Amino acid sequence: MKRFEALSQSDNRVVINMEESEKRSHLFAKNVFNDEKMLQFLTTEAYKKVQTAIFSGNKIDRKIADQVAEGMKAWALAMGATHYTHWFQPLTGATAEKHDAFFDLMEDGRALEKFGGRQLVQQEPDASSFPSGGIRNTFEARGYTAWDPTSPAFVYKTTLCIPTIFVSYTGEALDNKAPLLRALHAVDQAATDVAQYFDKTVRKVHATLGWEQEYFLIDKALAQSRPDILMTGRTLVGNAAAKGQQLDDHYFGVIPSRVLSFMSALEKQCMVLGIPVKTRHNEVAPNQFELAPVFEEANLSVDHNLLLMDVMDEIADKHGFKVLFHEKPFAGINGSGKHNNWSLATDTGVNLLSPGSTPMKNLQFLTFFINTIKGVDTYEELLRSSIASASNDHRLGANEAPPAILSIFVGKQLSDVLDELEGVSKGKLSPEEKTELKLNVVGKIPEILLDNTDRNRTSPFAFTGNKFEMRGVGSKMNCAKPMTVLNTIVAKQLTDFKKEVDALIDKKSLKKDEAVFNVLREYIKTSKRIRFDGDGYSKDWENEAKKRKLSNNKNTPDALKVLTSKDSLALFAATNVMNGKELVAHQEVELDNYVFHIQIEGRILKELVYNYIIPAAIKYQNLLLENVAGLKEVYGAAHKKITEPQLNILEKIGEHLVAIKKSADRMNEAREKADRFVDIDKKAKEYCDTIQPYFEDIRGNADVLEQLVSDELWPLAKYRELLFVK
Ligand code: ADP
Ligand code: MG
Repeated sequence: MKRFEALSQSDNRVVINMEESEKRSHLFAKNVFNDEKMLQFLTTEAYKKVQTAIFSGNKIDRKIADQVAEGMKAWALAMGATHYTHWFQPLTGATAEKHDAFFDLMEDGRALEKFGGRQLVQQEPDASSFPSGGIRNTFEARGYTAWDPTSPAFVYKTTLCIPTIFVSYTGEALDNKAPLLRALHAVDQAATDVAQYFDKTVRKVHATLGWEQEYFLIDKALAQSRPDILMTGRTLVGNAAAKGQQLDDHYFGVIPSRVLSFMSALEKQCMVLGIPVKTRHNEVAPNQFELAPVFEEANLSVDHNLLLMDVMDEIADKHGFKVLFHEKPFAGINGSGKHNNWSLATDTGVNLLSPGSTPMKNLQFLTFFINTIKGVDTYEELLRSSIASASNDHRLGANEAPPAILSIFVGKQLSDVLDELEGVSKGKLSPEEKTELKLNVVGKIPEILLDNTDRNRTSPFAFTGNKFEMRGVGSKMNCAKPMTVLNTIVAKQLTDFKKEVDALIDKKSLKKDEAVFNVLREYIKTSKRIRFDGDGYSKDWENEAKKRKLSNNKNTPDALKVLTSKDSLALFAATNVMNGKELVAHQEVELDNYVFHIQIEGRILKELVYNYIIPAAIKYQNLLLENVAGLKEVYGAAHKKITEPQLNILEKIGEHLVAIKKSADRMNEAREKADRFVDIDKKAKEYCDTIQPYFEDIRGNADVLEQLVSDELWPLAKYRELLFVK
């Protein structure tokens, strides 16, 4: 579609009635097969078995599965569903589904039931086209999906969606959910053991996640007029609009009415699907917005974020918008992220990262707080790898988002507490020392945190009063990846901690709290380098971080290397989260994804240059030439003075045409060469170091041409139109 058609189409925008008469709270989880519906549709036996499976991870036997399937089907049919699907998360980052009807017709016309326990519990999708990093090839096994009872099934449109994991027949994870569930199980076990030092009644600890989804909304017709947005989710060329985000007038500004009606419809759909969305506001950049839910158990929260992204696509489409989830859709304008707020909560209703009202509760808080810091310090490079992707590379370290260096911000007051704890004497504590610690250090924490208002927006991993906030996660990303790594790290760390504390109690006859203080003191000392409260965007920090031997992997191929290091393999094996084969496979798939993304961008960029930019520039050149020739004919020798501006523009266009074609051709040759590499590490490196740098050069020339060529002839929607058309 041409740019002007696109502009005119955008005038036929959908006007949605914004009055919402229905009470939102009545809608909540209407389409979710939750506890309430299970009670209604399941036998008591089946209900109890499902609850036990959710709590302890036990398997559900076939007989019970049949009963659950029966109840689930009855409910889904009553909700108007005609099909069911196993909903899963292949390593591509999105979700996948394969729809089957509930019934088949037999030849005599009778309906044959197709949905029973077997279909609920397990299914074989035609998996050969999902990336598996060679796992399936190696084992010559096909993948299958298996029901995850901890995330409730839901009806979306006319389909019953059953959240599932996706594994090979030999049990290797081919998806992002299976490792996450294992990590959550590991952290549950490790954290429960430690929490029992403080409260014997704790039986379960679950990780909590509250994400904050940033996104851009642009006009659908305009988006469709640009091949780059359509195919890559970002603009590969485009001169900055005269007005960008300098005025800061978008942040917390008034939400335009078309956007508001989109948000309103979206929130309603989220409610129906049980996604507890809460806040919405404008973000820093024009046309950029954010949506955040109330936090939930991490696995459910991950599923809800993935579902949300699908729902957003669909509702935006109805409202004449396209949502951009890409981390950097526009050059020179803030990109989007997805902060992951994370904590640990007990089944007794305690947030383990929230200080309490007694010294004991605060010691518990400090234990989980310091162990998290220690774990992140040990595995900082691995945590960085979990947020690596081609599109997030544009953001990390680009002075608008956290740097590629991982560090932790805890604020001045908590830093002071840690400093004081560091001074605690070794071994047994004197009664005076104990009193001092309890009253003046540990006992003071609640009031300290209440006025702990200092925030550091440049920190990639910040403590924000009762949770940690991981800020480098990409807007497009599946949160399962960082959540798997973070919870695995913390699980391992807490297990080590418990061993050390128990050893001090057994061998040195220390009291429990003395032993805890002793181990924490050492952790504070040995994890100091990860704590940084200064400006994370500064060059000084980069130098300082290097001295502290913190990793600084600025691109995905470098960042992913650590996934298969000796330490990572040992960590994932010790926690039973991933085995060596899986790690190798996941690394390979990530690298493949990386190459694939840049490859597509390269192809589209060449198309833009050859089929859009060069032809537009030539057209304008011809117009100018015609004009010059005409003037020459009329004015004869006197033409020189009046044709000078035209000739000058012609010359400039000529220069940039030569340059842009040269870069595009070289990029293409480099791509052809890289595509012949078989080794994925080499290929990814080549795409990163050799091919990608051409993009900047091509873009530079394209953006000058955009400024030179007549607006009327320019075939691509401009930043001004994309970002400010309401
Ligand atoms: P911000 O200043 O970052 O916007 P908010 O208080 O609005 O901070 O919280 C941001 C996010 O943190 C929300 O999505 C919220 O649900 C989440 N959150 C709050 N408490 C927790 C917790 N204990 N665990 C996980 N996420 C949490
Ligand atoms: Mg935040």
